[in-house]
Amino acid sequence: MLDLVPTQAENTYRAFANMGPEPLGNGFSARTLLDASKGRRTPIKPFLLDQHVVAGLGNIYVCEALFRASIAPTMPASALTPRAASTLVQAIRCVLQDAIAAGGSSLKDYVRPEGGLGYFQHAWQVYGKKNQPCPKCPGTPACTGVQHMTQAGRTTFFCPQHQKNG
Ligand SMILES: [Zn+2]
Repeated sequence: MLDLVPTQAENTYRAFANMGPEPLGNGFSARTLLDASKGRRTPIKPFLLDQHVVAGLGNIYVCEALFRASIAPTMPASALTPRAASTLVQAIRCVLQDAIAAGGSSLKDYVRPEGGLGYFQHAWQVYGKKNQPCPKCPGTPACTGVQHMTQAGRTTFFCPQHQKNG
């Protein structure tokens, strides 16, 4: 299915009207993230997967962004500080830009429009890395390696050593 929508009607078009800001656009910032997180006890991981909060973020990219921002996936969204929100926004943008540069992630049947594969799956630092050493905690004796759990029906990969609450 393909819908043709005038550019000026994009934001009011029914499929997009209730979506959060585009993460690589100017409408996404630490401020918008903090405003959306006010009073939300939902853990930050499923919070970021909510398309009303920010548009288009998938499971892999949220895991990678929280890892880069050193934020625990279980932290309540409302516990986000201005500083952490700013770090998180940067991490989300960097993960997406790295993924776009690598052509996306080919897991099962994803191919690029011209038929080629994406290679970002080789750059994942935490997703799918269960029990492997954390690349951010080299030589840390207490490091148990990358762990995983299920949150809102999706698998979360994280490092319990350096990903903290707030
Ligand atoms: Zn770590």
